[in-house]
Amino acid sequence: MQSFAGRVALVTGGGSGIGRATALAFARKGAKVVVVGRTHETIEETKEMIEHGGGEAIAVQADVSVDGQVRSMVQTAVDRFGRLDFACNAAGIGGKLAPVAEITEDEFDSIVSINLKGVWLCMKHQIGQMQMQGGGVIVNIASVNGLRGTPQAAVYAASKSGVISLTRSAALEYAQSNIRINAVCPGAVLTPMLGQVFHTTGITKQQYRTRIPQGRIGKPIDIAHTVIWMCSDEASYITGHIMTVDGGVSAG
Ligand code: NAD
Repeated sequence: MQSFAGRVALVTGGGSGIGRATALAFARKGAKVVVVGRTHETIEETKEMIEHGGGEAIAVQADVSVDGQVRSMVQTAVDRFGRLDFACNAAGIGGKLAPVAEITEDEFDSIVSINLKGVWLCMKHQIGQMQMQGGGVIVNIASVNGLRGTPQAAVYAASKSGVISLTRSAALEYAQSNIRINAVCPGAVLTPMLGQVFHTTGITKQQYRTRIPQGRIGKPIDIAHTVIWMCSDEASYITGHIMTVDGGVSAG
């Protein structure tokens, strides 16, 4: 696959899980990486991991649900590295597990403002920059839960359905601007977010594995590899696509 030397990649949620694995994978391909997240310590850690591997990165603290912070996140990337070729919008929260009638308005607002409004704000500012420079690629991290009903996580699932819809619509709007926009829908992936699900439900990893056709829970790198491929020229005719990466779960 092509090298990303001279290219610039921005990853939100880059301090842990899927976002961190993706930031590291971009660096291994030679891209300069902008690691974005809410928590200073964890994004600095990812930046240091990239630098120890011989790569170049900056850590930018931003809350993806706040317009001014997202605007300056993109501006900082461009000020430092001169352009923005790839963006992976992975920041997200799972929210409390509960049926619809037991979700509070604050909980609803928090999930939707980070998972859905956050992706929209990121795309809005990333697209603005990509238009100015003549193109780019965006990969949003949705979820298989956005493709089906999900008891105990209806608002999370709805937010991810929203990400899928935003991805398709934006892909159509910018297809002729040389901007490709796709989404990845992970199934279960071993990250702090899934650890929280194990913790609150008491479901064990072994029980989870039995629900997955391939018989294993996904690793963050499984998603990272897909994002890297979607950003590469090998995927240059793919836009508006929603790709499940779930060990076969959604085939059933
Ligand atoms: P994670 O909790 O390790 O990562 C989420 C990251 O987003 C964290 O680093 C967190 O600090 C950051 N974040 C949260 N709110 C933010 C905000 N407002 N602004 C900036 N950063 C913020 O979990 P993960 O599993 O790596 O999740 C990454 C993405 O993958 C999420 O969008 C999640 O919904 C999605 N996903 C995960 C799974 C899974 O099984 N782990 C499955 C499907 C989809």
